[in-house]
Amino acid sequence: MFYGASLMQTPSNQPPALEHYNLWDNDTPLREAALRVVGADMGQRLAGVGQSIGQPTFFALGRSANRNPPELRRYGPDGERIDELEFHPSWHALMMQAADMRLHNGPWVDDEDSAVSRAVRFMLVAQVEAGVLCPMTMTYGAYPVLTQSLVTEGGVFDGWRTPLASGNYDPRDLPGSAKGGLLIGMGMTERQGGSDVRSNTTTATPDQLAGPGHMYRLNGHKWFYSVPQSDAHLVLAQTPGGLSCFLVPRRLPDGNRNDIYIERLKDKLGNRSNASAEVEFDDACGWLIGEEGRGGATILQVGGHTRFDCALGSLGMMRRAISIAMHHAQARYTFGKPLVEHDLMKRVLADLALEMEGLVALALDLAQAREPQASDAEQRWARLLTPAFKYVVCQRGIGFVAECMQVVGGNGYIEENDLPRLYREMPVNAIWEGSSNIMALDVRRALERDPELISLLQERLAPTCAANPVLARAWQALAAQLQNPAEADMRVLTERLIDIAAAATLTAHGPQLVATAWSAARLEQAGGLYGSRSLAGAQALLLQRVWPEDDHDH
Ligand SMILES: Cc1cc2nc3c(=O)[nH]c(=O)nc-3n(C[C@H](O)[C@H](O)[C@H](O)COP(=O)(O)OP(=O)(O)OC[C@H]3O[C@@H](n4cnc5c(N)ncnc54)[C@H](O)[C@@H]3O)c2cc1C
Repeated sequence: MFYGASLMQTPSNQPPALEHYNLWDNDTPLREAALRVVGADMGQRLAGVGQSIGQPTFFALGRSANRNPPELRRYGPDGERIDELEFHPSWHALMMQAADMRLHNGPWVDDEDSAVSRAVRFMLVAQVEAGVLCPMTMTYGAYPVLTQSLVTEGGVFDGWRTPLASGNYDPRDLPGSAKGGLLIGMGMTERQGGSDVRSNTTTATPDQLAGPGHMYRLNGHKWFYSVPQSDAHLVLAQTPGGLSCFLVPRRLPDGNRNDIYIERLKDKLGNRSNASAEVEFDDACGWLIGEEGRGGATILQVGGHTRFDCALGSLGMMRRAISIAMHHAQARYTFGKPLVEHDLMKRVLADLALEMEGLVALALDLAQAREPQASDAEQRWARLLTPAFKYVVCQRGIGFVAECMQVVGGNGYIEENDLPRLYREMPVNAIWEGSSNIMALDVRRALERDPELISLLQERLAPTCAANPVLARAWQALAAQLQNPAEADMRVLTERLIDIAAAATLTAHGPQLVATAWSAARLEQAGGLYGSRSLAGAQALLLQRVWPEDDHDH
């Protein structure tokens, strides 16, 4: 069959795919927020990251890793149980890159690194492929717990200290001490309960001695066990002393496989590059972390980090979605002019841009409060804000990506575009590591446990309230409502808390036009869908900051 030359011509009015640009240079809100904290040298390094991963090869790896999900091989050629996972090479390439960027341990092991810089890297990588963030965040969250308990000099897991602190990705199935790099997962959720881990039925009984650092035998199951190929998982199980946390390695220190059996891999809506399994423990060996009965507290320590990372992952994906939407809206013409010049579209895009301004600025404030050396007041603020931030970002982000898809029209719904993959990926961040209602209820719990938090917030917000009367009024009303909040009100109050905290950050650091727009649209006007709120004359600035008008695709 002969195709005429006309079919090979570049179609008119179809903007090219956006996959050749510096993810850092083109993101003014992120750059400004980060450079307030990290030095110029680190800024240069982040620009290098933005340049190196904003390339067609990386976007292609992300697509390919999702189109070719991992497969479970339960049996070897002789019928023996092997429970091995086979990943596409693109997954390994992405994991190598993520480990090299030290998303899994940077601030713990490198004095020049920081939680803020890592948060930026996390958001940048999320734009290319979010599946690898799951093993990265769990390993990051587990690091301090392990190095304060079992992975210590002279301990059973002494040999894990070097690989746990390394920047290598080592997918080989070997005992941890023989590897160049390690991954740690988490196993809490069972069939009968995920949010309520007290309902866990998996048991752990001392092999010989009981107590911290001793080996127990685990029997039971986990209904969700992501990254089952990890070198070990932190697993919750019932002991005589109550719910406890164990380090359950895939291979035992003597080299034998632990008795953990992968029943099947989950067939997921998104997050398809990453493996999530169901497993059974049949007298599996696990080492007790901390005291018996302290498992919930230990896992919550890890959860503080992973919950924050869920929000960062969602923010990264929102950023990729708005970049695609803006790139499209500047180049696509309807009714004689670019989409971005139509008044209603302008309003929608500027509202999306405003969302990024407030949430990204707050994300980096929070990252700073999560630095290993943060003050007590900062840590308490982060304790309150982290679940609130996870709830608001991960839940709002789902609609945000759908709105970006709307901007791109029919093409936005088609798999050749990255938007469908982003859209499928978003909801998982609102579910795992504690779903939305649980996060909102956790805010209430934090307030109950630390009633002084309201005066701490008051102190923190005082300077910005003095400068911003809209913020002052909103905070005054919320402070009263937070005194004794009803469970059923926790979603609305939590959302309000985040909008107020973001208003304070924007008021403190500017631009003032953006702070005013945020305060008017998020604190004064009734909520609604994107594009339904007036933006106080900040539209042009917001659009220019979110995606400078330029030809990025070169
Ligand atoms: C892809 C994927 C991978 C996962 N990987 C892991 C993993 O590696 N390790 C792991 O341990 N878990 C993992 N999970 C499980 C996840 O953490 C749980 O699904 C989640 O915590 C919710 O638990 P659940 O599914 O049992 O829902 P439930 O606890 O039954 O809750 C259902 C809904 O009810 C709401 N709810 C519950 N209690 C209340 C209440 N008191 N008031 C108001 N609302 C309430 C919840 O917010 C939720 O929306 C994974 C999940 C997914 C989707």
